[in-house]
Formats: sequence, structure tokens, C-alpha cells
Amino acid sequence: MSSDYYQTLGVARDASAEAIKKAYRRLAMQYHPDVNTEPGADEKFKSIQEAYDVLSDDRKRSIYDRGGDPRGNGGMGGGFGGFDASGGFDFTNLVDAMFGQQAPRGPRSRTRRGQDALIRVRLELWEAAFGTVKPLNVETAVVCPKCQGTGAADGTQPEQCKTCKGAGDVTRVQRSFLGDIRTVQPCPTCHGYGSVIAHPCGECDGEGRVRSTHEIKVKVPAGVDNGIRIRLDSHGEVGPGGGPAGDLYVEVQVAEHPRFRRNGTALEMVVKVPMTAAALGTEVRLDTLEAEWPDSAEEDRALEVDVPAGTQSGHRIAVPGRGIASLDGRGRGELGITFLVQTPTDLTDEQKDLLRQLAVARDEEQFEPVPDRHEKNFFERVRDAFKS
Ligand SMILES: [Zn+2]
Ligand SMILES: [Zn+2]
Repeated sequence: MSSDYYQTLGVARDASAEAIKKAYRRLAMQYHPDVNTEPGADEKFKSIQEAYDVLSDDRKRSIYDRGGDPRGNGGMGGGFGGFDASGGFDFTNLVDAMFGQQAPRGPRSRTRRGQDALIRVRLELWEAAFGTVKPLNVETAVVCPKCQGTGAADGTQPEQCKTCKGAGDVTRVQRSFLGDIRTVQPCPTCHGYGSVIAHPCGECDGEGRVRSTHEIKVKVPAGVDNGIRIRLDSHGEVGPGGGPAGDLYVEVQVAEHPRFRRNGTALEMVVKVPMTAAALGTEVRLDTLEAEWPDSAEEDRALEVDVPAGTQSGHRIAVPGRGIASLDGRGRGELGITFLVQTPTDLTDEQKDLLRQLAVARDEEQFEPVPDRHEKNFFERVRDAFKS
């Protein structure tokens, strides 16, 4: 039998079926292996499923509430002369009764750790590349400012439960052919807390926490990419009864850039070069990604690039250290620049004459088509660079 199912789903012991379903949906979405690739998420997802399987089923839940094992095949109770599981009897309690081993229970604390929370932040490419501080509005549960988390109205205190006298449990003794059978159940009056909030706080309805929206500033390290989660300790939801807050995860989404594409730590761009310039050679000045970064040095915002005479379409050069920082501190990747030679499509008659003269001079009026080797990388590179 696993850990506390209520705790796994982050719901109170007396939570409604609706609240359990809601909590499950939220957690399942957060920890589903398809979305969460963090180590341990898979295990967590399984335990969420297990908890929901039990708590969503009235019969299993009531067995579980009495300390039984609802995932045992249920036959245990059924096999014992008329005590079946749905009748509120189970093997654990039978062993307890015969050997007098009663697991210590006592009142539960109203205070529990809050849930982790997940929000997404959308970043521009330069923010992901160079890091930034991002203000975010977070809607989460915080300690109720009116009762400071106790859940009791101003000037009142939770009172000792009269049914269980503060013990949190009630013990029932049933006579049977096996002898007296004691069953211990959470007290129905106080739901196991041992105390009752007679006058709940008007602000939080006795929950000890309220929902609130506030701004936090998230420090985003240079080099983050889509799907990376930044954890902010104790910035998640405050728990029931004003319990310690869970963690907040901020998941990064990076916007597409019109000119740059990212490939790991490399940045790729495509530069169109007129046919004449590609043939004769030239120098071009290109805006870098730093041009969008307010904190960049002036001299980093543009790059002089040499286009050698005879540049072919698809030729790529790499500028080391001008790509994106690696998250593990191994420096910046390269900036890849791919040239695309532009064949003119709007020639005037005069320009056509000039080109014909050139063709004659180069003996290219007639030519033998020479199939080239199929260079997969070249075509893929150009296509990829254009996809955006
Ligand atoms: Zn309150
Ligand atoms: Zn009680």
C-alpha cells in the first residue's frame, strides 16, 4: 500500500468527489509523461493515478479511509465468514484485533504542504539567448491574511472535538465469533482533525488560504529553450491550514524569430545575395541577435561578413561564439550564415543584352547540363533555414 492518497492529490480527507476529480486532472496534466520529462515525473504520475483510482471509487475510498488496502483484490474481507470489504471490514483491522497491534494514528494536522504550481512564460529569442528578468503575474493560494492560516474567525480558536475528545479517531468494537473486533475510523465530526472550527474565517471559509494574484520576478538564465522548467522553491500554492507552499515551476516557451533559427546552441540565418555580388564578391553588414538585446555592447550589434567572389547558393559560413549560450556553461555556440544567390527575374531589355554579351564572352550560349552530386545536407540546410 502506498503513501497517503489524499496527500498525493493534495486534497482534504473530506474532499468532495468533484474536488478530487479536479485535483487529479490538474496533476495528471502536470505530470503526464508526454509533457513532463523530468526525472521522477513518471513515478509521480503513476502514484497520482493510483490515488485517483482509489479515491474516485466510493467503495475503495471507504476501505482506504478505514486503514484497509482497497487495491488488494477485495477477497480478503469477503472470504471471512460474512465480513465483506464493502461492509466496512478488512484484513488489516482483523490482524490489529487479534494481535492487538493498533497503528498509532491520533489527530491529523490541518496544516499540509501546498501543491506545486506550473505556469508558462513566453520569451523572445533574445531573452532565451542572453537571459533576462521577467515579471510574471501568478495566481496562487496564499496564507489567508485575515486568520493567518488558522481558518478560525477573528478572536476564535478551533475547539476540541466533542465526539472524539481531540483524538481524531473513533474506535468501534464489534462482537464476532473471532472475538471483539475493534475498528478505528477517522472521527466523523471533525474528519480526523481532533478539533472543530466552530466559527470559520469569513475570508477563507476555514481553509486557511485564499487565492490571490501577485507579481514575481523570474530570473531566466541565458540559454533556456522550449520546455525547460525553472523551479522557484516555495513559490507554489500555500497548503491547507496555511501549510508551507509548494514549488512553482515556470515553463519556458520561446517565440519564433523572423530571421534567426535556433539549432541547439547554434543560431542560423539566411542571407540573400544578388547574383552579381556573389560573382564579384562583396562585404555585407548584418544585424545580429544582440541588436534586439537592450544590454548588449554597441560593437556586438552588427557583424561585417565577407562574401567571397564566386560564392555559391547555399554556401554556409560559421562565426564561432555568436550563437546561444549553453546552459551548462560551455560557452556560446556558432552563428551559421547561409548565402542564397538570387537569380534576377525582372531584367530590362538593356540588362538582358548585357547578360547575353557576358554569355557569349564566357562561351555559355550553349551548355552541356552536368548533373551534380546530390548533396543532401545542402538542400536540407537551405530548406530548414527558410522554415519559420
Ligand atoms: Zn481565513
Ligand atoms: Zn472528532
